[in-house]
This record gives sequence, structure tokens and C-alpha cells, in this order.
Amino acid sequence: MEVTIHKGRISLIEGDITRQDTDAIVNAANKSLLGGGGVDGAIHRAGGPGILEECVTIGGCETGEAVITTGGNLKAGYVIHTVGPVYRDGLQGEPRLLENAYANSLKTASSKGLKSIAFPSISTGAYRYPLEDAAEIALKTAINYLKSNEDILLIRFVLFGQKAFEVYKKALTKLA
Ligand code: ADP
Repeated sequence: MEVTIHKGRISLIEGDITRQDTDAIVNAANKSLLGGGGVDGAIHRAGGPGILEECVTIGGCETGEAVITTGGNLKAGYVIHTVGPVYRDGLQGEPRLLENAYANSLKTASSKGLKSIAFPSISTGAYRYPLEDAAEIALKTAINYLKSNEDILLIRFVLFGQKAFEVYKKALTKLA
């Protein structure tokens, strides 16, 4: 599914983020940046040890912030590592922190002059953010970015599995 927002596009696909050919892919990292399971493990496995070496040098990342490394052996030139919130009950600032994770990743891509970026569904795995709520925040933040900026031309959401894809599709149909 794809929609045009102002000068850019939002596309949803079901697939594996490590195989994307966008200028950057986004990693749902943890604060240590030292690697983990889920999408983080997959990116480091596919990208090779150079990415982790750069992460060690950076030293860590706060929740809602983003940092950038090269893409190692990946097709994407860069990996933007962001840290989504661990979901407790939704009353601990989780929505704003998740929005910040997306917005700061987009800002980081923009500061490098990148035109295309692929996101996984941040925080909806080990961090347990409810998928419907997370999808709405992810897509609203992407739509708002494209409405007020003209630099990034493609924001792709790469959903792992049919369930996540369907939830994002429903949310985008409602919002766009
Ligand atoms: P978090 O700790 O932010 O919840 P996870 O990696 O546990 O991060 O999960 C985030 C999302 O990434 C989940 O929806 C999970 O299904 C998805 N995911 C896992 N592997 C991949 C992959 N290779 N490509 C895209 N998404 C993935």
C-alpha cells in the first residue's frame, strides 16, 4: 500500500528490514546500543560487525533519541539506531517517547541529506507496545513530517508478518 503526502510517499510492505534498498534503515535498538534480539539482532547479523563497532564508539542512546552509523554490508548506506519506549501502561510518557523515536530518526536522516528511509514497527516486539496504538503514532508522525518538510521523499514501513501489515494498513487507510 502506498499513499502520497505533499511531496513524499508513505509505503507499507510486509518483509524484512535488512533487505531494504532505502538510503537508511532504522534499527529498534536498546539504550546500550550493544545489540539485542528481534530486529536489532537481525540488522547486526546482516550488516556485519562494523556497525556494532561504531555503536560502541557512540556509547549509547536515550529513549526517544536517534544516532546514525554506516550500513556495513547492508544495501542501505546508513543505519539509524533509535530507542523506543518499553510499554508499561501508556501513562508513563510512552506515546510521546515513541513519537520522538520516529521524529528524531527522520531528523537524523534529513541532517545527512537522505531521501528515503525504512522503519520497522518500533517498540511492538520485546517492548510490548500495543500494535494498533503504535501504528497510529508511527504513521501520524510520518504524515506530519512529510506535510512540513520536502527533503525526504519516501518513508517505508517494513512490517514483519501479515498481522502487523494488516494493522498498519488499516491505520493508514484511516489517517491518509
Ligand atoms: P522492540 O524492542 O522495539 O519492541 P523488537 O525487535 O523486539 O523491538 O520488535 C520490533 C518489531 O520489529 C516487531 O514488530 C518485530 O516483529 C519486528 N521485526 C523483527 N525482525 C524484523 C525484521 N527482520 N524486519 C522487520 N521487522 C522485524
